[in-house]
Amino acid sequence: MSSLRFKVVEEAFDRKAVAVNIPKERPEDYYGCRVFNRGAMYKYLPSDTFAALANAIDNKQPLSRELADSIAAGMKRWAIDNGARHYSHWFHPLTDGTAEKHDAFIEHDGKGGVVEEFTGKLLVQQEPDASSFPNGGIRNTFEARGYSAWDISSPAFILDETLCIPTIFISYTGESLDYKTPLLRSLNAIDKAATSVARFFDPEVQHVTCNLGWEQEYFLVDEALYSARPDLALTGRTLMGHESAKNQQLEDHYFGAIPSRVEAFMLDLEIECHKLGIPAKTRHNEVAPNQFELAPIFEECNLANDHNLLLMSLMNEVARRHNFRVLLHEKPFKGINGSGKHNNWSLGTDKGVLLFAPGKTHIENLQFLTFIVNTMAAVHKHNALLKASIMSATNAHRLGANEAPPAIISIFTGTQLARVLEKLENSTADDILEFNTKSSRSMGLAQIPELLVDNTDRNRTSPFAFTGNRFEFRAVGSSANNAAALLALNAAVADQLNEFHARISARIAGGEQMEHAVLDELKTLIIQSKAIHFDGNGYSDEWKEEARRRGLDCETSAPKIFDAYLSQESIDMFARTGVLSKIELEARNEVKWEMYTKKIQIEARVLGDLALNHIIPVATRYQSMLVDNVVKLRSLFPEVKANRLAAHDLTTIESIAEHMAVIKGETDAMVEARKVANRIHSERERAIAYHDTVLPRMDSIRYHIDKLELMVDNEMWPLPKYRELLFIR
Ligand code: ADP
Ligand code: MG
Repeated sequence: MSSLRFKVVEEAFDRKAVAVNIPKERPEDYYGCRVFNRGAMYKYLPSDTFAALANAIDNKQPLSRELADSIAAGMKRWAIDNGARHYSHWFHPLTDGTAEKHDAFIEHDGKGGVVEEFTGKLLVQQEPDASSFPNGGIRNTFEARGYSAWDISSPAFILDETLCIPTIFISYTGESLDYKTPLLRSLNAIDKAATSVARFFDPEVQHVTCNLGWEQEYFLVDEALYSARPDLALTGRTLMGHESAKNQQLEDHYFGAIPSRVEAFMLDLEIECHKLGIPAKTRHNEVAPNQFELAPIFEECNLANDHNLLLMSLMNEVARRHNFRVLLHEKPFKGINGSGKHNNWSLGTDKGVLLFAPGKTHIENLQFLTFIVNTMAAVHKHNALLKASIMSATNAHRLGANEAPPAIISIFTGTQLARVLEKLENSTADDILEFNTKSSRSMGLAQIPELLVDNTDRNRTSPFAFTGNRFEFRAVGSSANNAAALLALNAAVADQLNEFHARISARIAGGEQMEHAVLDELKTLIIQSKAIHFDGNGYSDEWKEEARRRGLDCETSAPKIFDAYLSQESIDMFARTGVLSKIELEARNEVKWEMYTKKIQIEARVLGDLALNHIIPVATRYQSMLVDNVVKLRSLFPEVKANRLAAHDLTTIESIAEHMAVIKGETDAMVEARKVANRIHSERERAIAYHDTVLPRMDSIRYHIDKLELMVDNEMWPLPKYRELLFIR
């Protein structure tokens, strides 16, 4: 009966590392070879086209039709030379991941044959069948079609013999139906806002760029084991499974030796990344068994995010070559660390200054503090929104579940920065007046140690941490599109910087010195946003209490957390920055609630099926074996002796029966709760019903199944167990 489980376990454990096709050249020679980058453009485009395209990319200019035709012709030649047969607009719908529709280059040649063609029109704009992507009702309301349009700031690339063109995806009325559009708008907003503030300190600044360095965590599972777990295959996580006797207690996995099968996978993945211009740099084991991380060198935010999305599809593909499956779910295993995607986020000027890094003079440090404090103020003001921006049905398992990060947004600064902020907070009017004179030592701002960079404490419990020259938004989920979090963060910070700029400008116009006005405003902001600053243990119960007292958002129900997108402050902030309109926000929330419901609906169905058709029958069979044994003991021995010998069996029979009764009862109740929820019309209310009435049943069904796993004969248990899933040989 269980032979299937034993067979797959044996298959998985016997598996050897797959040989990797290592290029003969060095990485610097094949890096970016599948990207239509500046080098390829230079080679394949006429020189005037090249110059015009470079100018359009650098200065965000639109392309003319003739120019697009000329680019398309060169791009096609490059793509065909590199083995491409199809082309596709590549975009980021409001579901997870990316979408593509592949078309072959071929067109009729008018003589009964075909030619390979690609025009500027096809390059610049397409109309994917948008009705199959979530749109929150926008398209129904406006009866508009959706179209995708080339984002020239992100280069085209070749994946699976297909030329992929990064695009935005919007409705004909201009509403975004994707993540990239509002991300680009937010990058524009933060460029403008941060540039205007940076000009107080250096009037020559022209642009501010937002940088993103993501760290992608993931699990690997052998494909044979994966296929034997319908829950993993259908929902991305285990819906049942008792903890293994050994999991991460020994903490021996982190930075431990990487198993050779995994090493081969990582090497293969890294080579593929480099060919696609993804600057993959770091790889290591994570805290949990079978958990790993990949991090690139940081890049401009939009490009970095495209690279992350590309990486996620690449991982799936490469993993299969190595007989693995990648689990990007935030919480594939109960009781074991989940996966996140730390977003290292920073701002830098076109003059090479990192705005979150301390400088060498007191003026540079005033600029540094200006950007730090305004970011803290923005995160404080919009802490509920930022939590909504990282929330999903899958990430909900990780947040607030006694592991990083808690379901409360706060900022960790580390002791050094905390000391500087405190000094500024307690500065007197005289200190501020004397800021520019030597005698005051500029309130210590002349000597903010560079040490700060290396010295930031590693508080792993904080969802948003200052790490020396950047902030690290750690609450983002491993399966998420980072753009959801970053567009909210960029917009909130841009809005705050705009307000700051207006206040300082007014004070300067009133005759005040810039430095004094800035210091005084910063002092006020530090005091106002103090509640967001927390350097303690984010997992503790005391923090939950404290955060509530401080007025931070403590909501834990995902569907209600999404409400923060539609608060008046959020709507106004997104409108002022031009990142999302109210219509878009409403539509997006419909999608969020719908996705939430669907995910749990699928999980509940899979769990119900597993419980009734896989677990109960096996438990029943084992139970009847025990009953059989008791009957036989009684036929062999006198009653008193037989009862003594059968005592353990009798207890087990009873426990199994009890657990099975609860499982059946709870499964019925879960089905009923789903029926009731499905009748609710509002997406929001339905999602709340799933959260409040379906999820708790699932937890309880799981609890009892996990108990049965400990009782039923190991040989009979149908699903690979945690100890088998989690330890790659
Ligand atoms: P950790 O110690 O947290 O693993 P690393 O130093 O390896 O951090 O860096 C993690 C990520 O942060 C990398 O992608 C790195 O390129 C990125 N990073 C470093 N400095 C910056 C910065 N100023 N802005 C954005 N990302 C950065
Ligand atoms: Mg990190």
